[in-house]
Amino acid sequence: MLNNLLYTKECDIIYPMKTNLKKLLKYIQQEHKLIAPIKKDHGVFLSQTKDLNKIILSSQLTENSFKDFLFPQEQELFDFKGAELVKPKQYTAPGLALFGISIIDLRALSLYAQVFRHDPYFQARGNNTIVIGYLKVATPDQTFGIFKERLEEDTLEHLEFDVFVLDSNTGLHFFSGSPKGQKALTQAGIEDFENVEYVGPVKESGLDQTMVANYKKVKNSFKTHRKLWEELGKRCLACGKCSLVCPTCFCFSTHYKFGQKKKTGKKVLNWDTCFYSEFSRVAGGHKFLDTVAKRIFFWYEHKFVRIPDELSIPGCVGCGRCIKVCPVAIDISRVLAELGKPVSKLASRKTLKKKKS
Ligand code: SF4
Ligand code: SF4
Repeated sequence: MLNNLLYTKECDIIYPMKTNLKKLLKYIQQEHKLIAPIKKDHGVFLSQTKDLNKIILSSQLTENSFKDFLFPQEQELFDFKGAELVKPKQYTAPGLALFGISIIDLRALSLYAQVFRHDPYFQARGNNTIVIGYLKVATPDQTFGIFKERLEEDTLEHLEFDVFVLDSNTGLHFFSGSPKGQKALTQAGIEDFENVEYVGPVKESGLDQTMVANYKKVKNSFKTHRKLWEELGKRCLACGKCSLVCPTCFCFSTHYKFGQKKKTGKKVLNWDTCFYSEFSRVAGGHKFLDTVAKRIFFWYEHKFVRIPDELSIPGCVGCGRCIKVCPVAIDISRVLAELGKPVSKLASRKTLKKKKS
């Protein structure tokens, strides 16, 4: 029996895949490219696999998120020939099955669905993808992410997914969140599942209290906590790594790639981030985010103030990936804690760094 257990570096127990889940994934693999959590040198990543035995079933968040697949770093938008638009490129990649998407990342996916609701490229990709959420619960009071969320009775109603698999000590529980999910479960021979109706990304009661508190802390803080933002601006390298891994960062820029034949080429979209100096350049060459302090504040303001204002949903899901990758140890939860203090009680630069684990 002991041979059936593997241990990750973090000592998380990885159980062998249970029969019903195997049946589901085998069925889905027939028509989809399977993307699932796979162990690599530097952690567990969502990656393509044909081998179900390589899939890591754990409560850990993957290092990357769904964004790499549903909103790739580079996308071709259309070809052109002289002044003529040859034809917009429709997204025709094979269907994807994204398995192992955590509750936290499903929340981020809801944000993407809102932001890109009129984007034909994102929509086409989404229609071609089956999303299978997964949660391994070790104890009933387990919390998730830096905001210490819990699994509530109505959590799944506010998440968009096709299938959700809850893996608890009472066994595997399957939920369908769409007709696509119902079909997959039925065709895979899983009869015992529950249908969950999606009722929108936010609970009837609105943003949860932690997010309301964060909204208040960040709003106008460039004036009230100017010194803190300036300290962060001195430390931040503006490398943009936090933005690249963040499942809620969706900013992009577009540019042309010229072909070998005269006057031909493509228009291409690439991820971009407000940490980069060129991001805020406008006509006439003016950059309205001309210091790193302004840029780092702008990033927080987008997540905690502007997204909630515009879409009534949080712009940060508390995954903590930005903390993990920051080369100078800027920790979003420590920054938010500092913003909650009166200016006279602010910590020094040193204490703003992430806690040693
Ligand atoms: S914790 Fe960091 S990486 Fe995760 S959603 Fe929030 S800002 Fe993005
Ligand atoms: S990862 Fe850290 S240093 Fe790099 S842009 Fe983000 S906050 Fe700044």
